[in-house]
Amino acid sequence: MLTPHFGANMSHVGSNGVVPVFLIVDDHAEGRALLARLLRLQFPEAHIVEVASGMAALACVVETAPDLILLDAMMPDLDGFETCRQLKAQPASASVPVLMVSAILTDTENRVSGLASGADSYICKPFENDELIAQVIALLRIRRNELVLRAQQRALEEELERRRRMERELIEARQTAENAAQAKSEFLANMSHELRTPMNGVIGLTDVLLDTELTAEQRDLANTIKTSGETLLAVINDILDFSKIESGKLELESRPFKLRDLILHALNLIQRQASSKALALFWEIEPRTPPQVLGDEIRLRQILSNLLSNAIKFTERGEVRIRVAYCDLDNHHGELQFAVSDTGIGIPRDKMNRLFRSFSQVDTSTTRQYGGTGLGLAISKQLAELMGGRMWVESEVGRGSTFHFTIRARVPQTGEQTGLAAQAALSGRRVLLLDADAGSSERLAALLTSWEMKPIHGGTSLELIDALLLRQQPAPEALLLDEFVLRAARPEEVAALHRWQAAQGGALVLLRSAEVSHTTVPDVAPLLVAAQISRPLSASSLFNILTRVLAPGGAQAEAGMGTPSGPLAHQHPLRILLAEDNPVNQKVATRMLERMGYQATIASTGADVLAALRQQAYDLILMDLQMPVLDGLQATRQIRDEFPSAHQPYIIALTASALIGDRDKCLAAGMNDYLRKPIRELDLRAALGRCPRLAGTKTIPPAA
Ligand code: ADP
Repeated sequence: MLTPHFGANMSHVGSNGVVPVFLIVDDHAEGRALLARLLRLQFPEAHIVEVASGMAALACVVETAPDLILLDAMMPDLDGFETCRQLKAQPASASVPVLMVSAILTDTENRVSGLASGADSYICKPFENDELIAQVIALLRIRRNELVLRAQQRALEEELERRRRMERELIEARQTAENAAQAKSEFLANMSHELRTPMNGVIGLTDVLLDTELTAEQRDLANTIKTSGETLLAVINDILDFSKIESGKLELESRPFKLRDLILHALNLIQRQASSKALALFWEIEPRTPPQVLGDEIRLRQILSNLLSNAIKFTERGEVRIRVAYCDLDNHHGELQFAVSDTGIGIPRDKMNRLFRSFSQVDTSTTRQYGGTGLGLAISKQLAELMGGRMWVESEVGRGSTFHFTIRARVPQTGEQTGLAAQAALSGRRVLLLDADAGSSERLAALLTSWEMKPIHGGTSLELIDALLLRQQPAPEALLLDEFVLRAARPEEVAALHRWQAAQGGALVLLRSAEVSHTTVPDVAPLLVAAQISRPLSASSLFNILTRVLAPGGAQAEAGMGTPSGPLAHQHPLRILLAEDNPVNQKVATRMLERMGYQATIASTGADVLAALRQQAYDLILMDLQMPVLDGLQATRQIRDEFPSAHQPYIIALTASALIGDRDKCLAAGMNDYLRKPIRELDLRAALGRCPRLAGTKTIPPAA
């Protein structure tokens, strides 16, 4: 009788999961028949293969693929033990359970040998049928479990392999993406360089051209070329910025800056556009706003300039207003809220959502009327988001628009309030402002007040000059004089200024209009100009100039530099080496230098620079970054290593690249200053003014 426990539930189990396959190996036919009959009874659908020898079993086992081998121990030629050993040695049958069936297994030694040869179990003849079947079922269960485990293992291995493959593919994909990003950023760097290099020629040489004798028509045409060049450069910069943001390459700086300076600087940049349309400019900063915050001043100014120039572009009459508010978030963080509003054409409600998309403009007829790329707002919005804020617009057609944006900013701790020490030098100093434009004068005065200076402003008449300069006690120490006021001054006014200078040794800083500064130089004789600064005014340049000219002896020391009354080279002679491989750029720089009275020696590679320095000392090298053989950075490092410190030239980088970090790279390589192409003559002039002269000998021996 069969044990009910092993009943029908196992009757259908086999390696294929449906019916079992048995291989019976016995040299006696009756033995085989008995086993087959018992198996058939229990597993009616089983597939049963019978063979009469160990050799035959080995020969058929692969093809049969049994789930269980019932193996007689005593057989001629190859006995059960050896057969079992060989079966277990073959990969195809190694895991098939073997049940040894024999009369000799009553002997312990034989049972041990049987198990040692690899049999999974044994049963002695004569056996109870139930026991045999119970053994078969137990071994089939083990077989089934093993098969399940093996299937799971295979599935796991496949899964593992799939994951490994995916991981390999991911690594490859990441590598490809990194290569692509690298290629894109290199492409950007190259494109930036390639586009800016010819722009340097176009803008730089137009400046040179504008300084020659031209008819009114020629001057008008040349001015148009210059304006178009500058517009094109702005577009190139926009596209580069946009691609940098898209590729995640835009890094933001975090430095302390003053909000008021930022606002005034941004307003200064658009001052002329606004006054040409007679638009009033207003600004207000909520009183609780911290005066100084940490963030990326340049990028913030970029957003503001963008919004302000749009506001002016799309407003025919009325005003443009900028408001700043602040909201504390936690201890040292807060949200700065900016709003730029205008009284212009406004934006239809259904067009508002399109505004911040790249290359999008409200409509094409507007485009034709106003120009632009449709990138400014897209860039501004993304910049605001990169700074942890957002941007949105409120507008009504015909009434005007307000562009809002926020950024997160950190309020510097006491130790981080950099620049404040330098400010002490300006604190309490009296400055007279004579500016032809009242709005600009107001803002300039606010800027000076923010540096704790004491500005006097509000008029330009002779009486005022006379009263303020001579009768005001104590008299102003510096005068910021608009060149238009100077041009319009009557001789007695100039004489009043001269008396003030002679009596006080006061510093005169000329505020020059960028548009005319290349063409005609106002006749300032007999005044001594300590420094000049061109519009749009940069708060930091003005700060530096005032700090310099108000330093003891500064007014006189500076007076020689940059006075429009004579070439800079006469007051500040320098031996200049121009390291530049591009012939157009060579021409731009040499012509600009010639106009300041300098004759530069030209080197076309870094190697030529080193050779030239070994021949003769130079006070200054204007060093292009990308040059064949030895680039500007390598050449600078070599110069800093090779030459004794007393003969080290001042090195100014000239670069057409606009990637973040370039400036730091230049300074880290040992350069002293950095000019971005296209070079502007005023920037070059200011940079030359900062360059000290070497007490150099004719030939400098390289350091040992
Ligand atoms: P664009 O270079 O064309 O000015 P922007 O992205 O700065 O590009 O602006 C996109 C469009 O949004 C503009 O062409 C204009 O149609 C609209 N726009 C932007 N600012 C104003 C504004 N202050 N008033 C009215 N329309 C504006």
